[in-house]
Amino acid sequence: MSIERIARMTPSVTIVMEGIVADLKAQGVDVIGLNAGEPDFDTPAHIVQACTRAMEEGKTRYINVTGIPQLRQAICQKLQKDNGAVYTPAQICVSTGAKQALNNAILTTVQPGDEVIIPKPCWVSYVEIVKLADGVPVLVDTDPATFQLDLEAISRAITPRTRAILLNTPNNPTGAVYTRESLEALGRLAVEHDFYIISDEVYEKLIYGSGEHVSPASLGEEVQAHTIVVNGFSKAYAMTGWRIGYTAAPPDIAKDIAALQGHTTSNSTTFVQWAALAALEGPQDELERMRREFDRRRLYMVERLRKMPGITCPDADGAFYLMPDVSSYYGKTTPGGQVIADSAAFCNYILEEAHVAFVPGAAFEIPSAVRIAYSNSLEKIREGMDRMEAALAKLS
Ligand code: PMP
Ligand code: GLU
Repeated sequence: MSIERIARMTPSVTIVMEGIVADLKAQGVDVIGLNAGEPDFDTPAHIVQACTRAMEEGKTRYINVTGIPQLRQAICQKLQKDNGAVYTPAQICVSTGAKQALNNAILTTVQPGDEVIIPKPCWVSYVEIVKLADGVPVLVDTDPATFQLDLEAISRAITPRTRAILLNTPNNPTGAVYTRESLEALGRLAVEHDFYIISDEVYEKLIYGSGEHVSPASLGEEVQAHTIVVNGFSKAYAMTGWRIGYTAAPPDIAKDIAALQGHTTSNSTTFVQWAALAALEGPQDELERMRREFDRRRLYMVERLRKMPGITCPDADGAFYLMPDVSSYYGKTTPGGQVIADSAAFCNYILEEAHVAFVPGAAFEIPSAVRIAYSNSLEKIREGMDRMEAALAKLS
């Protein structure tokens, strides 16, 4: 039997879903995966070449836990140029993906019983990482129509035990890009009530509408002193499998993160850090090419979903997910006589009947919806939408 800390953990539904899709594909089933939060593009060639070169040059040894100085310096330049936030390399810790960076941020700030506010819908791992730190996740609604932050709801959730808020803009799963005004208001609350904003900015390069990415770290010295920026290379540079991300934190937290990581993974893979340096310093035009392609797919998918009876699909200006409300199908019966009870049953039906994979909204604390990723080719998306439409027409 699992020990208590693990027993109260729910396995990552996004990861479980990936496994199911991989198994079906291995069995020869023609599954269209609109579940994975992963760009379908290859990592740009110059980044791959920088990695190969680093390996050939013998950059294969242990290094400083927090990363090579060249990369930490480049990250500081990036934070200043892109985000308007000034950091020194001592405040940066390069980690094994933004996922480890998030774990580092939470484990170094949250004590047992501390509350962490999480605006919902939220990414599957947030609640679990807070629980791992023996913290108390406090889920707070966002605006149901726009998924923007509800500052009043956040204010009401603040207590003397509030230690942090976990923020993700652009947002997985909703695609919302939080406004500057709401982030400024949140910054004022963080300073007034002395809690951290753990700001997960992994989708910052994927914005399509008129929205802008605002890092709380750019909102003045006081807010920056209450902010831990989490970012990575997976989404912007199509580097999911490389496992590299980072934190930019106030100096005392940065020291604690280095101590923690020194006892867990030590440095993230040495030659991957040289590739990440090439990603930051090299040409950025492929980023824009990928962003445009995502945008084309997004517009197409929104249009298709909005034409399907009984489905409402809110606007989504960032990341690569849509969160359509499918709850009007709950209670309907499949051709096999099963009742669609909830978002998981809806996803199971679409997977079994149409061989199209989504992720149930319940995993993101939004049981009325499903998450559909447009990080697949337009051709596959078209086919996926056709199949979904046909499967929905069979429900009674
Ligand atoms: N934050 C969010 C919101 C994500 O969707 C992901 C997805 N993987 C991560 C963090 C972790 O990214 P990484 O691949 O860098 O660990
Ligand atoms: N973040 C991606 C997703 O939401 C990848 C899987 C994961 O790490 O959760 O699907």
